[in-house]
Amino acid sequence: ATPTSIMVGTGKAAKMGVLFRKGEALQSLRDAKVIALDKTGTLTRGRPELTDLVVANDVDEADTLRLVASVERQSEHPIAEAIVNAAKARGLEPATIQDFEAIPGFGVAARVDGHRVDVGADRYMRKLGLDVEVFAKTAHRLADEGKSPLYAAIDGRLAAIIAVADPIKESTPAAIRALHAEGLQVAMITGDNRRTAEAIARRLGIDKVVAEVLPDGKVDAVKSLQAEGGLVAFVGDGINDAPALAQADVGIAIGTGTDIAIESAEVVLMSGDLRNVPNAIALSRATIRNIK
Ligand code: ADP
Ligand code: MG
Repeated sequence: ATPTSIMVGTGKAAKMGVLFRKGEALQSLRDAKVIALDKTGTLTRGRPELTDLVVANDVDEADTLRLVASVERQSEHPIAEAIVNAAKARGLEPATIQDFEAIPGFGVAARVDGHRVDVGADRYMRKLGLDVEVFAKTAHRLADEGKSPLYAAIDGRLAAIIAVADPIKESTPAAIRALHAEGLQVAMITGDNRRTAEAIARRLGIDKVVAEVLPDGKVDAVKSLQAEGGLVAFVGDGINDAPALAQADVGIAIGTGTDIAIESAEVVLMSGDLRNVPNAIALSRATIRNIK
């Protein structure tokens, strides 16, 4: 491609809200075979809400939510906000906490009112030596509905299963249809529960799911997609996504996401509208075709 045609192409892209930080990305985007997308904040809005709270026998629901929300007040994870908001909506006053700890990819822990409280994924409960089997049926039902199940343990005893749901962005289904129409394979990479990720992928017609990825595992997920399927573009918004954005053949960051994601990407979508991904690919194909 000539420098002039690249300039014209990136200029057109900018008008539709797609910023090419590097002109060469216009060429690599044309040759992409797989579009991999982060789930939370990319395919979904990134603003989950608490939908379900099921407590174990002899456990008080309001007490549990109050203890859990007190811990989550210290966390910056979108899940935390969902839980804190639910407690607020029920008029529950948070307690002061001690010894807060966040275990990335697993969950959070603290001491609240003299109790040890742990909140997180099933793998976190297993790490603590707790058996989540009593909630297996509930967890499967929730995950099949596309909700993310979490667990709370109080003083080392499994107390509740909590579900949060993050609505799919309005633009997502059309974006995926358009990517398929351009002949691309679409993959999802997420730290979330496998069953939940698969339910969402099914709903969206996503071809491939890589789930339960630890925060530093997204790079490996991109590498294995590259080994299988050729040039990979990765779309993400979070701190966790930065290394994967750098690893991908084309890193595409959401402009409303974290600064580190934007800095690691070659392409930035000014809005969260995912239809701009297939639009940018169509543009890259048109631009490169014109100058041949
Ligand atoms: P993702 O953002 O894709 O869910 P993370 O690596 O941030 O990936 O988290 C992985 C999983 O760890 C979450 O899906 C959740 O089950 C659990 N987790 C992480 N942080 C928290 C938190 N503050 N409260 C409860 N669970 C959490
Ligand atoms: Mg995200």
